[in-house]
Amino acid sequence: MAEPFLIGDAWVPPGSVREIELLGARLPTGTPLSIPVRIVHGKREGPVLWISACLHGDEISGLEIVRQVLQRVDPGRLRGTLLAVPIVNAYGFLQQSRYLPDGRDLNRSFPGSARGSLAARLAHLFVREIVDRSTHGIDLHTATRHRSNLAQVRADLEDEEARAFAEAFGAPVALHARTRDGSLRESAARRGKPVLVFEGGEALRFDPEVIRIGTQGVLQAMDHLGMLQRKRRLQSTPLVARRSEWLRAPRSGILRLTTKVGATVESGQILGEVSDPFGENAAPIRAPGHGLVIGQALLPTVHQGDAVLHIASFDDMRG
Ligand SMILES: [Zn+2]
Repeated sequence: MAEPFLIGDAWVPPGSVREIELLGARLPTGTPLSIPVRIVHGKREGPVLWISACLHGDEISGLEIVRQVLQRVDPGRLRGTLLAVPIVNAYGFLQQSRYLPDGRDLNRSFPGSARGSLAARLAHLFVREIVDRSTHGIDLHTATRHRSNLAQVRADLEDEEARAFAEAFGAPVALHARTRDGSLRESAARRGKPVLVFEGGEALRFDPEVIRIGTQGVLQAMDHLGMLQRKRRLQSTPLVARRSEWLRAPRSGILRLTTKVGATVESGQILGEVSDPFGENAAPIRAPGHGLVIGQALLPTVHQGDAVLHIASFDDMRG
C-alpha cells in the first residue's frame, strides 16, 4: 500500500483522486494565476509521472490528450501516481498566446526562481511542486502558430532510459533532440528525470489523429513504467531520427508547397517554390537528401530565410 501523496498543502490518500490549484502569482487585478492539477494516486506504490499541456498557452491539443488519458486511468488499479496538468500557462491559454503577459516564453524560463519575474515564478512553482515530486514527465506540445508538425516525441535518445521511454510511447517518429536552455525538459533532465516532449498538429486546433496518437502514447509510456495493469499493444515502432534540418525560403515571396507533413522525400526532389506576387521568378525548394517531412509552414507569406519544411533523416530508412 502506498503512503499518502503530498502536493501543495494537500495530502492525497492512496486509491483516490484530488484536484488542487497551485497559486503561481496574482495578476494586477488581484486575480490569482494558478496551475490546476489533478492527482490520481494509486493504491500501490510506483513511479510518479506528470503529464503537462499548454505550457505554450496556444498549444491546446495536449489539454484534450490529458482529458482522454484521465478517462482511462482507474485509481483503484493504478500503480504509482499520475499528476495531470492540463493548463500550465493559464494566461497564455486565455489570450490564445504562446507567451506570458510580459512577453516571456515559459519554456525558456526554467528552472525559474521564487523571486523572479512572473515566468520565473511559475517555472519555479512547477519545478518545486511537480518535477521534484515526479520520477518521469511527458510535456505535450504542438507546432508553433502557422506551422504543423507530424506527431513525434523528442528526447535525449543517447540516454538509455529516455530512449526506452520514447520508444514505448510509439509515436511515428522519435527524434533525438538536445535540450534547450531554460526548457522544462532541460531542467528536469538536470534533476535526473527522463522527460518526453510530444509535438503534433497545430496551435489552437484539436487534431483528432494527433490526439489519438498522443493519448495512446501516454498510456503506453505508463504501461512501460509498470503503472497500468493491462498490457497495451504498441501502436507502432517509431522511426528513430538522429538528425533533422529546417529548409528555408530561398527568397521572400509567396510559398507554394508540393509536399506535406508525413511525406517521404528523395534527394533533389522539388518540394515547393517561392515566387513573387505575380507568380514569376520562382525559386525552388529541393530536398537535400532522403527523409521524412516532420514539420511545415502553413502561412504562404514568407521572408527569405524563413523556416518552411522540417525534414528528419534516418540511418535505417528503407527505400
Ligand atoms: Zn510548445
